[in-house]
Amino acid sequence: MKKPGETVEDNVTNLEICQKYCGSCPTFKANNLKDYPPYGLFCARGKSTSPKMVKSATCFCPACELFTQNHLVIGHFCSR
Ligand code: SF4
Ligand code: SF4
Repeated sequence: MKKPGETVEDNVTNLEICQKYCGSCPTFKANNLKDYPPYGLFCARGKSTSPKMVKSATCFCPACELFTQNHLVIGHFCSR
């Protein structure tokens, strides 16, 4: 969940940062999120369009530098 006024920019640099975390996340792999738009950077682009989101308790977002820098909370941006 983002607070009003706090946004993560959708750019190549941030996507590369995201891939370090979402890319190795069990939720990302279990749901093949790389196959469905927006493919990553969910905190900026919104949730995955995967038709079947398998729930998982694991989210690596809290370890991500963009999460900290942008004062994000909770995580699980791929499914919220
Ligand atoms: S906070 Fe999560 S969704 Fe956003 S860039 Fe980091 S790992 Fe990706
Ligand atoms: S948003 Fe969180 S739960 Fe979803 S793929 Fe990225 S790290 Fe995993």
